[in-house]
Parts: sequence; C-alpha cells; structure tokens
Amino acid sequence: MDPIVIIGSGLAGYTVLREFRKRDQETPVTLISSDDGHFYSKPNLSNALVAGKSAEQLVNTPREKMAADLKAEIVANARVTAIDTAGKKVRWSDGETAYSKLVLALGADPIPHGLSGPGADKVFAVNDLQDYAAFRSALKPGGKVAILGGGLIGSEFANDLTASGCNVEVVHLGPWPLERLIPEQVGRALADALAEKGVTWHFGRTAKTAETSGGGVVLSLDDGSKVAADIVLSAIGLRSRTQLAASAGLQVNRGIVVDRTLQTSAPDVYALGDCAEVDGQVLPYVLPLMQQARALAASLAGEKSEVRYPVMPVVVKTPALPLAVLPPAAGSDGCWQVDCNEDGICALHLDGANVLRGFALAGKLAAQRSQYAAKAGLCVSSARTPARLA
Ligand SMILES: Cc1cc2nc3c(=O)[nH]c(=O)nc-3n(C[C@H](O)[C@H](O)[C@H](O)COP(=O)(O)OP(=O)(O)OC[C@H]3O[C@@H](n4cnc5c(N)ncnc54)[C@H](O)[C@@H]3O)c2cc1C
Repeated sequence: MDPIVIIGSGLAGYTVLREFRKRDQETPVTLISSDDGHFYSKPNLSNALVAGKSAEQLVNTPREKMAADLKAEIVANARVTAIDTAGKKVRWSDGETAYSKLVLALGADPIPHGLSGPGADKVFAVNDLQDYAAFRSALKPGGKVAILGGGLIGSEFANDLTASGCNVEVVHLGPWPLERLIPEQVGRALADALAEKGVTWHFGRTAKTAETSGGGVVLSLDDGSKVAADIVLSAIGLRSRTQLAASAGLQVNRGIVVDRTLQTSAPDVYALGDCAEVDGQVLPYVLPLMQQARALAASLAGEKSEVRYPVMPVVVKTPALPLAVLPPAAGSDGCWQVDCNEDGICALHLDGANVLRGFALAGKLAAQRSQYAAKAGLCVSSARTPARLA
C-alpha cells in the first residue's frame, strides 16, 4: 500500500500525524521535510532569548523519537520540488515516493523586506529554528537591534530583546503596534509599556535602505531619519508557501485553496496550517491548525470531517503588557468600546446589536480571555464593567 505522505515537519505536519495515529496505527505514513525534522513549538522562538535558550534547547523531541513514537518514516533535509497529482508521486532532489493521500503542511515564508543597500545582508527573519540560531549568534550582548514591523511577532521580539538587555528600535508603518488587531488605546498602552522597558518606536515609517557602518547597519527611513543598529530583524509578516502547489496545478490564492474538509482542488491532496486558505481564510496561528489537523486526521482515517473553529483568542507574548486578543472578522461592522480600570484595559468590539464580535484585554484582564471568549457572538451591554460578562 502506498503511504500517506505529509510534507512539512512544523506544528501542522506533526499534529495531523499525531491525530491520525490516534485513529490508525497501521497505515504507513512518510513525512518529508526540508528542515531537520526535529519537533519544536514555533511560538517559543519569540520569547526564548530572555530564557537564554539555544536552538538545540528549543527542540522538544528529536526526529528519531518522533519517527518511533508516531510509527512514521521521516525523510529530513529533503525539499520536495515537484508533485505529480496524476501519477500520485512527489519528488525531491535525490528521491521520490508514491502516495495514497498527500498532505501539504508547508508553512509560510517571511515577506521579503525589500531594503536595498550593502547592509541588507545584516537583516534577519526568524521563522524556524535555523533562523533563530543564526539571529541569536549574530546578537551582541547589550547590542542594538532594529526591528522592522510592530505586529505580533515584532512586538514579541521587542519585549524579548529588551528583557535580554538589548537596545531596541522598532520601525512600524502603522500608527500603533498591532493596529489591525487592537484599538488605539490598547495599542498605545502596549507601545508605552514597551517604551518603559527601553523600546524606541518609529510609527508611520518604513525603512528604505540599509547601509553598513562600523560593523553595523544604518537604516534610512522614508522621512530621511536614520536608525543605527548592530543587526536588523525583519518582522513585517509572512506569506503562505503556495509555489509548490501552484506548479503542480493546484488552485492557490493567498494560500493553497482548500474547503472545510481541507481538500485541495486535486483529488487526495490536502493542505493545512500556515500554507492553507481554508474556506477563504488564512489563519496563521496554532489553535486553528490544531482544529484543522483533527478534522483532516479523521478524514484520512476514513471519516470525512469538516473543520469547525471554536472562538480562538490570540495571546500576545508581551509580559511588559499581557494581552489577549480576539480580532473581529475582517470587514465586520461595529466599533470598539474601551474601558480602563485598575486591572487593565477591556476593549470590546460590538456590532450594531451590541453583539460581541471581538475583544482586546490588556493587563491583568488578559487572564479573563476564556470568559470573554464564551460571550463572543452574544449580546452584551458594554465594556464598562468586566464583571457583567462573568
Ligand atoms: C516567531 C513566531 C512566533 C509565533 N507565536 C505564535 C503564538 O504565540 N501563538 C500562535 O498561535 N501562533 C504563533 N505563531 C504562528 C505559529 O507558530 C504558526 O502558525 C505555526 O507554527 C505554523 O505551523 P506550520 O506547520 O503550518 O508551518 P511551519 O512551522 O512553517 O512548517 C512548515 C514545514 O514545511 C517544510 N517545508 C516547506 N516547504 C517544503 C518543501 N518544498 N519540501 C519539504 N518540506 C517543506 C518546512 O521545512 C517546515 O518543516 C508564531 C510564529 C512565529 C514565526
């Protein structure tokens, strides 16, 4: 029997394999990965510096143990270059295998920073263990880091780097951090909390060029100002890896297009995680991919299932100001109602009928995210007293 083939050893690839093995111990599975195949949790990459963790220490389970525990053949350091959906085969540089069913768990690539100039090679992006190792070894103790982008990952690294004793400047196009997820008052509070730890913000700015200077780099911003640093971390976002699927003739859009059963446009080929656009949405977070993995594992084991998402707040790893966010769906109407009290900030996104569509909880209130999540989709009075939601 040809194996089920999974491409990718990130959280999506390994979670679908683990979920599948809960249902089926016999069907052969081959997992192919362009990285070393060791299992780690990617969210740890943006809060590991302060803990002094090396890339090796971030590995939860070595590949050999994953293979034994999950009864799978793991082909590591092998980049799949072609998928033949008619012949049901995948190929990499020095091998190929047939598949009965194929799962694409290819992840996402950092968006290119687009900086010109000789300092551009001092710009790092941290999207896997290898990137983390390279970035960490380029860091000087107490050195200066410029971060491009003040979204989730940029803000988390700003917190982690300052907590590790580095000097940090963030260049961010938006008017406050995470402006697409949280209202101004919460964003300003996050910016202030990080500024208190030593972060310097450049809002409404982009970096254009990177020159080298004295072993470091000098960024020129679009208003002509300069930011000097030892190294630069680009955290301007990620883009689903769709190229392999597109060249195999699969339908792609912002991600590899799949329906709620995670089925692509080709028979017996599925996709999940950061590479997948599920029913029109790319949700590049851990909780959605866990739900996708459970549904897909059931389908692979013969019980066709659709993914259903519970309410999934995102916890932002910024201890300077703990934050939990349930972003309102793109294009949803309504507005934020913001209330501050001694426990933090409670921002509720309510539609015209006062139905809770999203929230941002900062400070101690972030710990109440489950209570607020339970009220999502329900009518609430206002943000004024969190107790009303209990
Ligand atoms: C720094 C950072 C912090 C984050 N923090 C959080 C957080 O706090 N909470 C949260 O919910 N989410 C967080 N995220 C997002 C979350 O980590 C991702 O959504 C998730 O890890 C994606 O998993 P994945 O398996 O889809 O992709 P990846 O982990 O990127 O795995 C992709 C795999 O595919 C392999 N691959 C790709 N192309 C090929 C090919 N052609 N041939 C063979 N193998 C291939 C790669 O080698 C890799 O093994 C964070 C992301 C980053 C970068």
